[in-house]
Amino acid sequence: SPLAREYFVDENFAPEIVAKLTSNENPYGPPASAKQAVIDSVSGGNRYAWREMATLMDNIAEKEGVTTKHLMMGPGSSDLLEKVAIVRFMNGGNIVSADPTYMSLIRVAERVGATWKPVPCTSDWSHDLDAMAAAVDADTKLVYICNPNNPVGTMTAAKDLEAFCKKVSKTVPIFIDEAYMELAYGPEAVSQSPLVKDGYNVIVCRTFSKIMGMAGLRIGFMIAQPEFIKEISSVTRGGMGISLTSIHAATAAYGDDGFQEMTKTKNDAAKKYTTAAVKAMGYDPIPSFTNFMMFEINMNGKEFLGKMRDQGVGCRAFTINDKDMCRVSMGTMDEMKMFVSALKTLS
Ligand code: PLP
Repeated sequence: SPLAREYFVDENFAPEIVAKLTSNENPYGPPASAKQAVIDSVSGGNRYAWREMATLMDNIAEKEGVTTKHLMMGPGSSDLLEKVAIVRFMNGGNIVSADPTYMSLIRVAERVGATWKPVPCTSDWSHDLDAMAAAVDADTKLVYICNPNNPVGTMTAAKDLEAFCKKVSKTVPIFIDEAYMELAYGPEAVSQSPLVKDGYNVIVCRTFSKIMGMAGLRIGFMIAQPEFIKEISSVTRGGMGISLTSIHAATAAYGDDGFQEMTKTKNDAAKKYTTAAVKAMGYDPIPSFTNFMMFEINMNGKEFLGKMRDQGVGCRAFTINDKDMCRVSMGTMDEMKMFVSALKTLS
């Protein structure tokens, strides 16, 4: 049975929320370059955006060192997570993942008939790769790995993950959700996308919603073997849900290294400030490689969210191993100060 559960509460969408620290968005986006691209392209909106899509895909393929046959685009990576879940599991099978992890793909897989085989994270909240390899059986249709992992924010060691992928992908495709990878610092901040180039049956999924600040503009992509892309495309179409304006915005943002660097730097500063502040209050945050962090709270999660909401702060609450945990996204420094002040009133 699953270790992690989330409290779903309307509080997070309440109008009194001033500091929206719920959904791991980028408070600095969209980049100015992307906003201008939307304005400049909107008058072309009477036409389908095939040519513009081809340009964006060429840019991504070039940067990733793959061909456009290795790419599938979606209106957000959620769309790709769902399509993969539907196509891989429409005839049953099981999915192996960590618990806790990001549940989007797994929930859809379960709805179309899959069995979920959750594998508890290790004591430092990384993926227990040995246990995951052992959980793979003849009915396993996909292994889902979120790295860095949401909701805990941790990174699984790059070398270990690479070795796992090389071995286990011989039996089953391995889907690696790297939504937060570009925000991570240090030697472990390594994408597994070169494995795709090297021919392994690995799928790497990315999004424009996080480092590129375009959550509401909806673009994501996955890199996989052309046969895998063909399998998913045989049932569903890639890229059709993306608007012309979003494609132009994405093309601009993708090349906007300055914006991405600025986001990374400011996110890190917000994270350092928040980590120090919550530690000073006696909390013990899990070291995070992302734009959110998690720590145990000594209060029922629903009650906690209500009390934070009453002070204008939106965040999230989970129970993991029967412990109440808060997950807070990194906002601007002012928003993090609001979060810290609100949290102080509860301590
Ligand atoms: N994957 C992970 C791990 C996420 O946390 C999220 C969103 O928070 C997504 C995928 C989906 O993002 P989007 O559909 O905006 O690309």
